[in-house]
Amino acid sequence: DSRWSLKGMTALVTGGTRGIGNVIVEELAGLGATIHTCSRKETELIECLKDWKAKGFGVSGSVCDLSSRAQREKLMETVSSVFNGKLNILVNNAAIVIQKPTVEVTAEEFSTIMAINFESVYHLSQLAHPLLKASGAGSIVFVSSVAGVVAVKHVSAYSVTKGAMNQLTKNLACEWAEDNIRSNAVAPWFIKTPMVDQMLSNKTFLEEVINRTPLRRVGDPKEVSSLVAFLCLPASSYITGQTICVDGGVTVNGFE
Ligand code: NDP
Repeated sequence: DSRWSLKGMTALVTGGTRGIGNVIVEELAGLGATIHTCSRKETELIECLKDWKAKGFGVSGSVCDLSSRAQREKLMETVSSVFNGKLNILVNNAAIVIQKPTVEVTAEEFSTIMAINFESVYHLSQLAHPLLKASGAGSIVFVSSVAGVVAVKHVSAYSVTKGAMNQLTKNLACEWAEDNIRSNAVAPWFIKTPMVDQMLSNKTFLEEVINRTPLRRVGDPKEVSSLVAFLCLPASSYITGQTICVDGGVTVNGFE
């Protein structure tokens, strides 16, 4: 059934070398898509590409610092030439987190996180638009966060980038519907990846997280990549403009 296959489709997944992005690459490739990914660290990227080749996945990659406008333009030029001007899927996944009280966030930290987490996503979507349109059926998936939906302590700068992303999801869904491009966001709660290793190694913090989560555990990257894949599949062709939480129930937990 072609509704459950990505055969013949092309995808750009940012930040595919670790964590959630890495698993998204494998999920989409496993469903038949051809993928291009990027990250800043060349050695990690080369390692991953070798690994994917051994697994039989069609994945290529570029070193790219997404905070640079020029490097984003170069990345999309590469994607366009690798995929002959057509792109079915854009997964805006790469991001960083800064965890500290709001009054301690420096001007430099603020502009860095804005550039990587939001400005890059806005610009990559603009750059991808003609390619997504040319494919005839496009899907953008934003990897957002529960922190962009409710207030999570000591990540305010990070959270506003995700809140902006959730809004952009709605704007693009409406503006680009006529080009048959869908736009959705997935908003995870704590997922076991290198990004949050340090936060979760604090036993008291981990306990607090688990106690607030109805399913009583943190998530696995595969529990996010399955939803990302669904939102790229023809099976979800009538779903657009949504932000869906993958959160063990934390955002609906009022008062237990
Ligand atoms: P990781 O830190 O484990 O991986 C991040 C990936 O993005 C790496 O491949 C990294 O490669 C790449 N990346 C980061 N900055 C840049 C940059 N400037 N240019 C290019 N690539 C970059 O993060 P996660 O897998 O945990 O996070 C993935 C997404 O999920 C993010 O959007 C995050 O906000 C979101 N999320 C994660 C949660 C969690 O608990 N883990 C919870 C909620 C949301 P490199 O450093 O080499 O550039």
